[in-house]
Amino acid sequence: MQDKIDQLRTLSVSPQALFIDGAWRPPVDGAAMDVISPIDGSRLTTIADAGAEDVDRAVVAARRAFEKGSWSRTAPAERKKVLLKIAELIEKNALELAVLGVRDNGTEISMALKAEPGSAAGTFRYYAEAIDKVYGEIAPTADNILGLIHREPVGVVAAIVPWNFPMMIGAWKIAPALAAGNSVVLKPAEGASLTLLRLAALCAEAGLPDGVLNVVTGRGAVSGEALGLHMDIDVLAFTGSGPVGRRLLEYSARSNLKRVYLELGGKSPNIVFADAPDLDQAAKVSAYGIFRNSGQVCVAGSRLLVEKSIHAEFSEKVAGIATAMRVGDPLQLSTEAGAISSAIQLEKNLGHVDRALAEGALLRTGGTRTLEETGGYYMRPAVFDVTPSMMLAREEVFGPILSIIPFKTESEALEIANATEYGLASAVWTSNLSRAHRMVRGIRAGVVHVNTYGGSDNSVPLGGVKQSGNGHDKSLHALDKYVDLKTAWIQL
Ligand code: ADP
Repeated sequence: MQDKIDQLRTLSVSPQALFIDGAWRPPVDGAAMDVISPIDGSRLTTIADAGAEDVDRAVVAARRAFEKGSWSRTAPAERKKVLLKIAELIEKNALELAVLGVRDNGTEISMALKAEPGSAAGTFRYYAEAIDKVYGEIAPTADNILGLIHREPVGVVAAIVPWNFPMMIGAWKIAPALAAGNSVVLKPAEGASLTLLRLAALCAEAGLPDGVLNVVTGRGAVSGEALGLHMDIDVLAFTGSGPVGRRLLEYSARSNLKRVYLELGGKSPNIVFADAPDLDQAAKVSAYGIFRNSGQVCVAGSRLLVEKSIHAEFSEKVAGIATAMRVGDPLQLSTEAGAISSAIQLEKNLGHVDRALAEGALLRTGGTRTLEETGGYYMRPAVFDVTPSMMLAREEVFGPILSIIPFKTESEALEIANATEYGLASAVWTSNLSRAHRMVRGIRAGVVHVNTYGGSDNSVPLGGVKQSGNGHDKSLHALDKYVDLKTAWIQL
């Protein structure tokens, strides 16, 4: 496979237009942005920098397609066929998509293959298979009344997605929205648009009617804002940072009160008790749970809470794994952590390291820029000892930086775990079944892993509590975001 990857990485990528109403169109003012590969800092191609007028064209096309009904009013079993075909085409082109995505955002290919085309194909297949199996309801009314509850598509859905896993996260929103019969306008992140543009082409090839999926690329502050403020978007589904999430809620309030679903950041606690079943395994999974994709994972276990009695030994193990991690060319199958997605992100990470040192955090390993001679953006995974009040223990970093915090008792662990404005992911490592269940109940987060970190499938929801967001991606629950309930109250 490495040979094939080496071939694909040399292919030139043509300048990209917007995908609106089933065709490639340049933006009205012809503006474009450079796509810089984090692998070596080279210019890969350009993407269109859409303005408000382009966004409006996409929304008009989406609405027109919705009203026409050639997707929204077809039988779910018909939509299923197209969605299954999309899944098949993603799988057929998986390696090409994965390499293109890695050249764009720097994720190590071993992870990108599974997490990007692999996961996206699975997501399209899941919602394809689900959509002709979900029913409306008949309400338990009086005998002379028939109360029907219809589930109707909302209309036009906007999806704004980030650069860390564009296909996976994009599919989490597009697939259920399309399955439910909606039209979609998708805005990828500036730093990872290429695979989603390719996905649009595959959707068209699979027979998705014109205008049902539109992709507008460009700057968040321009095209993203235009989507947020648009008067004809019914639902906006977002994954990204807290500050942008706040803005989207403001845009909604200032425009048409569109429903806004946010999947925001996390500062997820990963709690290791001395009675964990296998401390070597716990150390390995914990290190991977923060350092894969260079920590650019919203559910990353960025706070490692370790019981005092094993703190020294366990922290050494984790630091040793971090030190040995193969950081480098993301297009080598053997690489364990690829490039940081952009020069700006690398700067931010190094700034976090400096601030942590200035605050008195103890650096066990890493935290420096590496492989500078490649022209790319690489960083050694960093492991810090911190106290709960330090910045590193509180703020989301979104980079390969782990904070270790010791604790003495179960209640102290819980207190530290919950002392955050976030509530996305978490984990508990213990052999004590009762403690595991107590912790599952006590931790305020969308997911609590027990004796593992990460890994899940489409059957379970992903979403945050507190300031990590609202609503859920994945599972049948995700469909709820993209439907309206309508009551028919019929006098018999
Ligand atoms: P990250 O920190 O992962 O880059 P952001 O929240 O900045 O997360 O970006 C996530 C997505 O939000 C991207 O597609 C980006 O273009 C978009 N975005 C950024 N700023 C805005 C904005 N003001 N309005 C709407 N979307 C935005």
